[in-house]
Amino acid sequence: MHASNAVADRGVPNWAKNGKIAYCRWDGGPLEVAKAHLSAWDYFTSPGAVTGMMGTYTDQGLELLKKGGFNWVWLTWSAGFSYQQEEVQQSILRPFVKRCNEVGIHCTAYLSMCNVFVQDMEAHQPDLLESLQRNATGGVVPYAAARYLEKPLRLMGCLNHPKWKAHLRNRLKSAIDAGFVGAFYDNLSTACHCSRCQADFESFAHARTGRAMKMPIMTVKLSERFEETAPDVDRSVELEQQQLLHAYWSHLLWRTAVEMNDYAESIRPDFMVYCNWHVYHHTFGPAQLKALSTEDGQKASYVGPGWNFPTSPGFEVGGYVSNAGLLRRLWAVSEGWRPVRVQNHQTLGPAMEASDFVPYSGSEWQRMIAECWTFRAAQEVFVEGNFMTELFAGVPRAHEAWESIGRYNHFQREHADLWESARTLEAAFAVWGRDNHPEADGDWQRVKFATALSLAGLQFDVMLNRLANAEVLSRYPLIWVPSVEVMEDSELELLEGYLRQGGRVLATGTFADWHQIGRRRRADEKQQWMDRFSAAGGKRWMAHFELNDRDICLGKTEIPDFILRMKKEYFIEVESSDDPVVWTAWRCDDGRRVVFLLNPDQRAARKNVRIRIKKPVGASKWHTPDQGAQAAEVRHNGDGMECQLNRLEIFGFLDIATASSAKSGS
Ligand SMILES: [Zn+2]
Repeated sequence: MHASNAVADRGVPNWAKNGKIAYCRWDGGPLEVAKAHLSAWDYFTSPGAVTGMMGTYTDQGLELLKKGGFNWVWLTWSAGFSYQQEEVQQSILRPFVKRCNEVGIHCTAYLSMCNVFVQDMEAHQPDLLESLQRNATGGVVPYAAARYLEKPLRLMGCLNHPKWKAHLRNRLKSAIDAGFVGAFYDNLSTACHCSRCQADFESFAHARTGRAMKMPIMTVKLSERFEETAPDVDRSVELEQQQLLHAYWSHLLWRTAVEMNDYAESIRPDFMVYCNWHVYHHTFGPAQLKALSTEDGQKASYVGPGWNFPTSPGFEVGGYVSNAGLLRRLWAVSEGWRPVRVQNHQTLGPAMEASDFVPYSGSEWQRMIAECWTFRAAQEVFVEGNFMTELFAGVPRAHEAWESIGRYNHFQREHADLWESARTLEAAFAVWGRDNHPEADGDWQRVKFATALSLAGLQFDVMLNRLANAEVLSRYPLIWVPSVEVMEDSELELLEGYLRQGGRVLATGTFADWHQIGRRRRADEKQQWMDRFSAAGGKRWMAHFELNDRDICLGKTEIPDFILRMKKEYFIEVESSDDPVVWTAWRCDDGRRVVFLLNPDQRAARKNVRIRIKKPVGASKWHTPDQGAQAAEVRHNGDGMECQLNRLEIFGFLDIATASSAKSGS
């Protein structure tokens, strides 16, 4: 299970490294217009919306991309229409890809993994309709993030059907041939009960649990307009089976993504396949893929305490909406070398995605971009919707926002080499991260918990179980295991060995109740492990099962004192009156350090921010892309340095030379 340790930086081109990416979704063209029409997207209600969408692959579109300072975009290549009709789009894109490449903009092909526009497919490629997903009574399965008048017009293909798999390979091959550098899969969704999927589930469940098990029935509940309602498992089905079904769907998506990746790499080894992976999936993506992407980000801002997010799961902690935990986790998944992108949305309510196409202001975009930078990722700038309509119609506020994005992207480019080399986080401790299933309290993958720790200014790594081994554990003085319900025996053995070597383990909330998804650990088996941990670690084994990490997120429980002491003992301190500043510290290849600072609050600049380094360091310089920010005062003393910022508008970073390199340089 640790095979991915051997995977290193394979084939990711230099321009695509974390710290260098300025990414933009650049949806459009006639295919996207037809898709918007057939999905009844909320904002798609005017000739101006059509004009904007048709503008993306024109001269005007290319000029906008250049002005926005992007070096990586996705273009709408294949969304589930027949090959004949997609050629209408693809004949426009082939020359556009070349033109982008000429000006240093790299292009990914947007591909749908499961979607079928059924009317067009019936007319031009009816054979493919054999391979549609089937519900428990043999009916078709609609794509649910859309809205239809009389009947669903978007259906889903079965990922176990040979014809569908051949179709996926065909579309992928067409993108490789057109000169794209990667493929992004969207519409990762399966709820198929066909005979192939049932048989596959049975072998999956048997391998996991050792028991024979039929596929539970999952009904997809739809509104009267067939629009988005979450798939729902029959409540009479046992929890274990529900979890297994969910794990199976994720496994099927995972396997399909890996198959497509392997196929692409067999043609072009450096081709990057990635997917729209979600926080509620079993994982953020297979270790075999070369890039990561999710649209689960939320618009970073201050909303006030107690904000109730109606949708899953929300990243609000103490009144701040922050993606810090999501980004920390994605950094761990990336292993530092896979390009990471996060697309942010404003959480408005339990509505379909299209109602969320609200234009953000320039400073809102800058904060979202900078939040990603702080955690070594890139924002996936989402233009489609009213922003795109206004941009192509020449509306001033849209152009002001675009210029703000361009200014930030330009700033990144100035510092790209330094940021790319700043790849090792200097962590005070590690948080055990497992693909979190089952989930105890609505905090999938513990991203909200990690957000709470980040907002408290703690510097920590998320350590994924699949990457954990004795050597990796030994780098940390403490491992926090927060409500990890599933722990395999091999993982418990690893923790026991770590305790024996002098490490400290803090286990909170639910701990190790399951061997695997679908297989509970008996109480006496668990007790044996508790005894072994006590014997191996003594007081260094800290079981605080009554301490629930959800209560930490809600502010009902303080972070334990000894953890907060680690913050005080850390060699960098950042202070700003009472308000949080989100910050991260990194070490570069040449020993230099970079400290990124983000003001997560849109209401006002942070004032009197102090960064204290408690080690001798060399020359240090503060950089910010924000206008009106005061130059920082940097004071050195024998033991370290202190940097005082009068104002932190949105973002800035401190570039710190090592003490020895400063000497040789002076
Ligand atoms: Zn199927």
